[in-house]
Amino acid sequence: MKTLNGKKSGYSYTRSWMQMHCFGLIPSSVAKMSSGQSKIFLGNIFHCQNDPAKKQLYRISNEQGGFVIVKRSKIMAIGRKEDLEQARAQHLADEQDVMVTVLSDRQLLIPGFVDTHIHAPQYPNCGLGYDKPLLEWLQAYTYKLERKYRDLEYSRKVFNAVVRRTLNHGTTTACYFASLFQDASLILVDAVLKYGQRAFIGKINMTTLAPDDYVETPEETIKLTRKFIESVRSKDCELVEPIVTPRFALSLEMDSMIELGQLVKEYNVNVQTHISENTDEVKQVNSKYGLPYANVYDKAGLLTPKTVLAHGIYLTDEELSLLSQRGSSVSHCPDSNTCLKSGMCDVRRLFSFGIKVGLGTDVSGGASPSIVSAMRSALATSINLSFGQKNYKPLNYLDVFYLATLGGAEGKITPMPLLFLILIFHFTFMLICSRSLLSVI
Ligand SMILES: [Zn+2]
Repeated sequence: MKTLNGKKSGYSYTRSWMQMHCFGLIPSSVAKMSSGQSKIFLGNIFHCQNDPAKKQLYRISNEQGGFVIVKRSKIMAIGRKEDLEQARAQHLADEQDVMVTVLSDRQLLIPGFVDTHIHAPQYPNCGLGYDKPLLEWLQAYTYKLERKYRDLEYSRKVFNAVVRRTLNHGTTTACYFASLFQDASLILVDAVLKYGQRAFIGKINMTTLAPDDYVETPEETIKLTRKFIESVRSKDCELVEPIVTPRFALSLEMDSMIELGQLVKEYNVNVQTHISENTDEVKQVNSKYGLPYANVYDKAGLLTPKTVLAHGIYLTDEELSLLSQRGSSVSHCPDSNTCLKSGMCDVRRLFSFGIKVGLGTDVSGGASPSIVSAMRSALATSINLSFGQKNYKPLNYLDVFYLATLGGAEGKITPMPLLFLILIFHFTFMLICSRSLLSVI
């Protein structure tokens, strides 16, 4: 099989692919295809899988001449060409109308990217206001923008644009911080459903440390979160799920966080928040609660296997052990950590504690909604960390591909049964097939 640079080695193929994407050559168009029809894709498939022997974090699967079977928008099977007929008989025996797409040797089918941390309302500020560190940046730029989402027409315009843009960058699954306002947050839900992205969407909880006209009362934040969860669930669509979203430990009092922890249990929903992003923030959290940052969330019942915590730069060994015990995962947001001068997160250290890690763009702390940009930043951060540590092995291009795909998916789905893990991972594949095939390959 020919590769992008004309060589025949599988690994030179993958390296060429990464170089192509790292230089930003993903086409921006999205090729829409009917999602109801059964489809078979034949071609080269590149993806990460769990290592059944658990000896390594992931196993790269590079099927040169493989197939993907899609039935009613779900991936039913992935395999090698010689196994196609058996898989077709098993999954498509009752299907009369099957569309077969044969990819060329210059095309590659990969899983959709998973953005495990993105603030949809901050999209208009991408690339702006990086002259201040986190806590000042929130007050000077971010809350001012986020207050605009009382205007539902503005919300609709921005949220449609965010979903289109992230899909064009190959993000088929996103974990969104939506708005403080419930109505605006539901508009993001509608946008995601309209364009067919898989998403976890959270109405933000914030009762303090923000302008007076941009906080809720403790009663409102719980009542509206309950309402939001029920509204999203009433859509009865597996593409979108509500996620409880306390902004960060300084945005709420402990009583409210405990009530949110009770909602998490009652509705069995995921949780997303920030942790240990900036040294001043960590000091203030320690002083407010008299506890290490991770223990604050743990006390509130917010550290679960369905929790994703953005950043985690300054977590102590004891906190990392706690996260590992709870099965909570970390969203590594290297672009944001650089733009806001927050610091450098050591992903290798997180791995050494057995913590699952995915990648986040953290728009607009991060300047780009592209996960490929986050992959590039993750490589740069890891290489920079290696300069100060003897024998440190920085992340390589395969590691960041794992973080952008399976790593992010695992972080979101750890608490669910294995079958669901496969379904969701396949789901991301499915979305590439049905929505943005040409944008990714
Ligand atoms: Zn964030």
